[in-house]
Amino acid sequence: MELYNLKHPSQKVSFKEAVQLGLGKDRGLFFPTQIPVLHDIEALLAMPFVERSKKVLGAWLASELGQDAVDKLVERAFNFDLPLVAVDEQRSCLELFHGPTLAFKDFGARFMAQCINAFAQDSRLTILTATSGDTGAAVADAFYGLDKVNVVVLYPKGKISELQEKMFTTLGKNIHTVAVASDFDACQHLVKQAFEDSDVRDGLHLNSANSINISRLLAQICYYFEAVAQSKQRHEADPVIAVPSGNFGNLTAGLFAKAMGLPVKRFIAATNANDTVPRYLETGVWQPNPTQATMSNAMDVSEPSNWPRVEAICEKLGWPLADLVGIRLSEAQTSEALAELHAKGYVSEPHAAIAARALTLNLVPDEVGIFLGTAHPAKFKDVVDRELNLDLPLPAELKAVEHKPILSAELAADFSQLKSHLFAVLS
Ligand SMILES: *Cc1c(COP(=O)(O)O)cnc(C)c1O
Repeated sequence: MELYNLKHPSQKVSFKEAVQLGLGKDRGLFFPTQIPVLHDIEALLAMPFVERSKKVLGAWLASELGQDAVDKLVERAFNFDLPLVAVDEQRSCLELFHGPTLAFKDFGARFMAQCINAFAQDSRLTILTATSGDTGAAVADAFYGLDKVNVVVLYPKGKISELQEKMFTTLGKNIHTVAVASDFDACQHLVKQAFEDSDVRDGLHLNSANSINISRLLAQICYYFEAVAQSKQRHEADPVIAVPSGNFGNLTAGLFAKAMGLPVKRFIAATNANDTVPRYLETGVWQPNPTQATMSNAMDVSEPSNWPRVEAICEKLGWPLADLVGIRLSEAQTSEALAELHAKGYVSEPHAAIAARALTLNLVPDEVGIFLGTAHPAKFKDVVDRELNLDLPLPAELKAVEHKPILSAELAADFSQLKSHLFAVLS
């Protein structure tokens, strides 16, 4: 597989290199030179998820890694269910939250972790990352127990919920966590300093494993095939898919799936009040506003980092951007959407509820809609309990960590302290 840098098209890399580098020169995103097209989609859709995913990812990666290696990566990364649950006559939710950290980010993070571990040379790599909550859990869990990678997660002490904290600080083994006596920005700054410090960067073989890594997006293509496969078992029509969007990685993967030949009628990019993309699709003017805090906080992004990839796909395939539907929901509309789903017997959470409502606003009679369930409702228990007047039980994954001890070190927001700590625990 060959990829090029969207900012510097002359920079070309292999998949392995793109995974290891994360970003290209001048922080440009890597983008595939060719998008493979799959034939006999019907036979593919009839296969079980894991077998089909080997074919889907093999189409991108077998030429570089060999099909056997692809098969192993897929088997290790994709080991949980993704049911398509009907909510009413027209809409179903593809529940992507049955992985170990109860969020769709498990798909991308687990596949990326398997790739990074498989590509690591003799020396152990160190993944260093800062989190304000969820991504830390998905990344830590995805790398947990892998033999060639250590993970260090920095997070702001006292600024994330105790349950969120317990999901990644109780693991141990190769997962090292540091509670920093400051805020999230300070954590990010420390990570940046570490990458700029050659002793740390080279001595500990740092890698960022960040959210724009191409391996994550390829992994996410697979669940779009599953969505359509399950939908086709029940309906005739090609579905409209609504994607709750923040950084637009999820939508990018959906467009890759369609470009590979998956029959999707159209995509809806559903956002909260951080509506840079819906406004852009309407007016043609790219004008990010200051980021606003909402109940769907994983979508509180006003400068989505994957957007250049969305444009690149549309351009490459000659798809007018206007075919993408952008829909923005206010907080009040999000509340209504949660209540309306609940009245139909379906407990959701704010991110998925936005996409569900976007379908209602956009579907015409006889169309079939799928919205992506990106997080387990219990992950947003505070909001869901408040909005729906419920007391959601903790799922087993969260119960299991509830009484485990937190293993984090506690440090000041001071780079020299962090540096000594890193060398002490990792070498
Ligand atoms: C990350 C996230 C999103 C947004 O996904 P993008 O790929 O960044 O657009 C939506 N919902 C939840 C629950 C998330 O964690």
